[in-house]
Amino acid sequence: MLETPVRPAELVAAETRDGIRIIALTHPPVNALSFATSQALLKEIEAADGDASIAAIVITGSKGTFSGGADINDFLKPPPADSKNLRDAIAAVEKSNKTFVAAIDGNALGGGLELALACDFRIATPSSKVGLPEILLGLLPGGGGTQRLPRLLANKNPMNHGMAGLQMALDMMLKGEQKTAKQAKGMGILDEVVESGDVLARAVDLAKTKAGTKNRISALSFVAFPPMIAYAHGLVPPEDRGGYAAHKLIDAVAAASEMDFAWGLAHEARLFTELVQSQPAQAAIHLFFAERELGKIPGLSPDLKPKPVDKAAVVGAGTMGTGIAMVFANAGIPVKVIDVSPEQVERGKKNVADTYQAQVKKGRLSAERAQANVDAVTFVGDYAAIADVDLVIEAVFENMAIKKTVFEALDKALQPEAILASNTSTLDIDEMAAVTKRPGNVVGLHFFAPANIMQLLEVVRGKASSPQTLTSAMALAKKLRKKGVLSGNAFGFIGNRMLFDYAREANFLVEEGASPMQIDKAIKDFGFPMGPFAMSDLSGIDVFYKISQEAPKPPYRTSEISTRLYEMGRYGQKTGRGFFIYESGSREPKADPEVDVLIAEESRRLGITRREISDAEVIERCMYALVNQGAQLIGDGIALRPGDVDIVWVYGYGFPWYRGGPMWWADGVGTKKIYDAIVDYQERLGPQWQAAPLLKELAEKNGTFAPHPKIEVNN
Ligand code: NAD
Repeated sequence: MLETPVRPAELVAAETRDGIRIIALTHPPVNALSFATSQALLKEIEAADGDASIAAIVITGSKGTFSGGADINDFLKPPPADSKNLRDAIAAVEKSNKTFVAAIDGNALGGGLELALACDFRIATPSSKVGLPEILLGLLPGGGGTQRLPRLLANKNPMNHGMAGLQMALDMMLKGEQKTAKQAKGMGILDEVVESGDVLARAVDLAKTKAGTKNRISALSFVAFPPMIAYAHGLVPPEDRGGYAAHKLIDAVAAASEMDFAWGLAHEARLFTELVQSQPAQAAIHLFFAERELGKIPGLSPDLKPKPVDKAAVVGAGTMGTGIAMVFANAGIPVKVIDVSPEQVERGKKNVADTYQAQVKKGRLSAERAQANVDAVTFVGDYAAIADVDLVIEAVFENMAIKKTVFEALDKALQPEAILASNTSTLDIDEMAAVTKRPGNVVGLHFFAPANIMQLLEVVRGKASSPQTLTSAMALAKKLRKKGVLSGNAFGFIGNRMLFDYAREANFLVEEGASPMQIDKAIKDFGFPMGPFAMSDLSGIDVFYKISQEAPKPPYRTSEISTRLYEMGRYGQKTGRGFFIYESGSREPKADPEVDVLIAEESRRLGITRREISDAEVIERCMYALVNQGAQLIGDGIALRPGDVDIVWVYGYGFPWYRGGPMWWADGVGTKKIYDAIVDYQERLGPQWQAAPLLKELAEKNGTFAPHPKIEVNN
């Protein structure tokens, strides 16, 4: 694009062509608008503005990116004393009498799009994407986005007095969605998509023709009717349930209508500052950094190249196998599925077809794409048909003997380089690897149900898993658009191991006097989408029963309530009864007096006098159980980092993201407070409570799990 050679240390480069000043962001890898870049940009804008020989100004990016937005590291520390920021650069564009054109090639996200919105014209290459994703970090667009985007879209889409455009703007910002250049042109965000030729050359031409024309969004009139704003507030979650930023964002949009432009901007800036300091934003930023760390694995050289997975196979066409096959299809990887049961094959085929059909109906997928995905999943009859795949995932019954037979057969049938993976929830990967002649190529790939929806993937490292296999598995996780978390090969890995302790405590609380309904409500109020008993009914009490039969026996008493339910054939939703009762066709759990009787009998049998249990005790005991096991797993090296544990529980089990995951939440409560409580529980409640050494160590020095400093902001 820009012909001027760019020295790597430069954050911004500029040149003049035919009286048009071109200012390019040149801050790799994504032209982040850090304090330093914004300052350099401001300097160039002011210089061009003050130069009478310059007719108009083009702002562009470099190397296929316009700008990925603000530098998140800047949110973690107070800005340097006299520093300028993106708002100053955008204000300089706004103030200038010259015409500005944004030439976009690649992503213009967050602050990047806000900069472009301050310009008079925006043009882009077809592969460009625009978006204001700040909400995903618990923030709002703080560089004028909440003021300019609704103004622009309400004017470009004037149906219903501009309400159509306002709705589009709110929708885009509240979902943090990225739009393709074509979509953005259709909405009115872009003036032109440059289908062929150089977007910069076209921008220079446009700047020459339009020089002197002002087309500022700030000058557009804008009215957001209060009922529309009230309606928007009603659509997002409550402030204390992850909707904090969403409500502030809607408030900022309301300010765009109620106040003068400059006042609206100031209001937006104030709301932004409040959000940066808020707990949900801090939690979201913690998760953002934790996710970036996932790929860093001690002992694995970053120079090792992953082996591509171009062809895959799945053994087992049940719930998980079919879901996993769709994950591959979604990523454009053809996948073959094998099952011993013809009925299951038919059910699997139908499930795949129905899932994609439903997505077409909801407008989430084009009919062509859906058909391509259906075609990518083929059902085959024997192992010879999958001999040439690069990777196979076994998802047969959770039974070691069956899994070993499958691994032996796969080892014989598949080409020697192929990776053999297991989707087991709990079983020993090493035992499976031992029946093959390629233990180095064996790894656990533990998906979560429904596999095509849930974002988590635990990558389980067996003792023989080779660095090459692990590197390829972690790269595959990314390609499948999953958050791949490395786990050691311990019973239940990270997530389920913690789940067992959480469920143990929930069951003990029931024996002591709480009801399943009370516990589920308390956990939902904490922010989980469902409580442990509704979850047990959903996954199947029979499934947990079978797992408990294979699990190593703990050195303390376990609750018998689930076993009693299992023996009564109360498997959960699938039988209409479990911990709760379900009316036919309903997934709504209702309390069942029969279960209350069973629970009372269990308490009596154990000699427990039932007592009133507070919701606070429910939360403390269930969450401290998670934190303690999390600390144990980190201390034992099964989980690499506290952030990994947080990712597992937020993306695999619905721990509320705005509390940052169990370990980050624990830092907020205080490791000493949690440790002291556990020591007390051990005395009062029994040996199931044994403080993890890492928790003890942190408590003694009042330390925290999170490696990242708490965010402080003083602007
Ligand atoms: P499922 O019962 O729905 O499906 C298992 C399938 O394997 C059946 O279709 C069965 O016919 C087939 N099968 C059995 N033996 C076979 C063999 N020798 N060769 C080929 N096919 C065979 O079970 P699921 O819920 O899909 O679970 C599968 C695996 O995934 C288990 O290891 C389970 O622990 C794990 N898992 C399950 C969940 C979940 O929530 N269901 C979540 C994560 C992991």
